[in-house]
Amino acid sequence: MTDIDRVLISGAGPVGCSAALYLAQNGIPVTLAEAASELPEDLRASTFHPPTLDMLDDLGVVDQLIGQGIICPKWQYRDTREGVVAEWDLGVLENDTRHPYRVQCEQYKLTRIMVAELEKMDNVDVRFRTQGIEAAQDDQGVTLTVETPDGQDELKGRYLIAADGASSAIRISQGIEFPGLTFPELWLCTSSEYNFEDHFEDLAPIAYIADPNFWFVFVRVPGLWRLLLPSRPGETADSLVSDETVQDRMHQVCPIDGDYDTFHRTAYAVHQRVAETYRKGRIFLAGDSAHINNPLGGMGMNGGIHDAVNLSEKLVRVWRGDADDREFDKYDAQRRPIAIDYVQQTTLRNKAMLEETDAEVRKATHDEMRATVADPAKARKFLRQSSMINALDKANSLA
Ligand SMILES: Cc1cc2nc3c(=O)[nH]c(=O)nc-3n(C[C@H](O)[C@H](O)[C@H](O)COP(=O)(O)OP(=O)(O)OC[C@H]3O[C@@H](n4cnc5c(N)ncnc54)[C@H](O)[C@@H]3O)c2cc1C
Repeated sequence: MTDIDRVLISGAGPVGCSAALYLAQNGIPVTLAEAASELPEDLRASTFHPPTLDMLDDLGVVDQLIGQGIICPKWQYRDTREGVVAEWDLGVLENDTRHPYRVQCEQYKLTRIMVAELEKMDNVDVRFRTQGIEAAQDDQGVTLTVETPDGQDELKGRYLIAADGASSAIRISQGIEFPGLTFPELWLCTSSEYNFEDHFEDLAPIAYIADPNFWFVFVRVPGLWRLLLPSRPGETADSLVSDETVQDRMHQVCPIDGDYDTFHRTAYAVHQRVAETYRKGRIFLAGDSAHINNPLGGMGMNGGIHDAVNLSEKLVRVWRGDADDREFDKYDAQRRPIAIDYVQQTTLRNKAMLEETDAEVRKATHDEMRATVADPAKARKFLRQSSMINALDKANSLA
């Protein structure tokens, strides 16, 4: 085996770590290069959907994840005026998945679990403080130029997975366009130990709360409620995370005496974008480097892990000589349409539903939702869609 006989992965987020674990478990040497000095403690994704849990089970890490998270068999769609509109019970998916529930767990716990597993493996080289800058390729392999504390270096491998997030240096270095839109408003994500369930009757651990003027989302993670809501015109990232604004919004969500204790607060710009291609020769984009969307529905990280598994399956087949390079075309053909036709459309629709101002449209949506949840066959169909099971079936049927 020469030095080049490995797969390079840039970025140790949930997507890069998933690909690294899959490849290494299948005997492929991997170098996982992460720009940060340690794993980022990202307070971003927290919802793991059933088919993602099945994949993490196959990778041998789901029990650890569940052990550090919360099993959520139910989630709600609510309205500030009407209370619970629909409570979805994922139990109807018992024949569709080994995990008929969502798990709420911070994404950084997954990357910590995975890197701990990777560091036990002989065929994995995990490098921190190793920032991918640009990549070049020829018939034999790929060269990734990296910045390290000791200066620039070159890593060589047969293939390169760009799992380096939304601002992917590799995607940019390859001149791959990232068309789409950025919402004018910022989104505030904050968390508190406050017991919101004492004020919101029957509050499920995941609740999307519609209101024409003030929609918001509650998600539970161990020990905390996280709250997600949009900024108002004129607010900046600094003003949105100020004590004054955070307290104002939290009191609007739930008026209490005194101030809320908050555990964290972050302002995010939110985009809907899909890369014009997921593959350039031996270089592949996966996760946020390939697609980004608003977090309503919890599809960014989940879809990224689905990319990682889809791509890794193909890398293993080609590596073992069971398929030729044309196999890689299927990665783009299977995963890119899912991001465009399914994830982008669903997340945009979720946002439109929450902020709908037309009372008749809102009523029609709520009536339809109530009818769907009351009919187990319709509820199953809806939940297969919202849990990304249909998207995976569709991807497998493409190409
Ligand atoms: C508020 C919020 C809530 C969300 N909730 C959910 C949810 O519940 N469910 C869901 O599915 N998705 C959710 N998402 C989206 C989710 O966080 C992302 O889709 C997910 O983090 C993407 O994973 P990734 O590994 O592709 O990229 P990232 O998580 O961004 O990881 C990229 C990694 O690459 C590293 N890196 C960056 N540049 C370089 C470089 N040049 N060289 C080397 N390393 C580099 C970074 O340090 C990082 O470790 C949410 C997002 C937000 C903002």
